Amino acid sequence: EGKERLQKVIANSGVTSRRKAETLIVEGKVQVNGKTVKELGTKVSPNDEIVVEGVPLEKEEPVHYLLYKPRGVISSVKDDKGRKVVTDFLPEVEERIYPVGRLDYDTSGLIVLTNDGDFAQSLMHPKHELDKVYVAKLKGIPSKEQLRQLTKGVYSDGDKLKAIRQKLLSADRQKGTSIVELVLHEGKNRQVRRMFEALGFKVDKLKREQYGFLTTEGLQPGEARKLTPYEVKRLR
Ligand code: URA
Repeated sequence: EGKERLQKVIANSGVTSRRKAETLIVEGKVQVNGKTVKELGTKVSPNDEIVVEGVPLEKEEPVHYLLYKPRGVISSVKDDKGRKVVTDFLPEVEERIYPVGRLDYDTSGLIVLTNDGDFAQSLMHPKHELDKVYVAKLKGIPSKEQLRQLTKGVYSDGDKLKAIRQKLLSADRQKGTSIVELVLHEGKNRQVRRMFEALGFKVDKLKREQYGFLTTEGLQPGEARKLTPYEVKRLR
């Protein structure tokens, strides 16, 4: 995540052209984290220390945003099919910002974006045990036993998927629908949808309401704000 080709990073920093950057790399005049790199395909992350002809590239200031992603948006910095992407909702920023993890195209809710590779890594590490709170609207109403199964673990495509907590928020017996809150620490691909599918329920709507201690308070779908230094510190 957030990695880019070395020659592009050098060119974007304004030191020289892309072509000249490639020449410098091949000639062994570029170091990444203290090691000379001659491979043109090398990818670097925003935290890497890059030195060109003995001069360190200016490091970007780390920035951190919280976005309330609307439905119908790709959790990526660009899309081949021209669909909306999460960075479209940030103010014009120079930094190479990318989302920490992903929300599905049809899922709304909170997602953090940053150019701070260490921060992103630490947030995504399972050891971090960050509470991710999802609210799912289901076709059908799960039984107590089925709800309990979500915290015991369900199997899907060879993965054991587990919630930390579950709670039936409401059930409409007439319509045969329900709303369930699920708290996850893991962040496997389409995890909430797969967990309910494993029990035979289709998720009609899905929203991530909380990310750690961060809530949607003060944000409308499509709005983003900078995280405060204190928030960043607490999340680390
Ligand atoms: N689980 C899902 O199924 N989708 C998301 O976007 C996030 C968690």
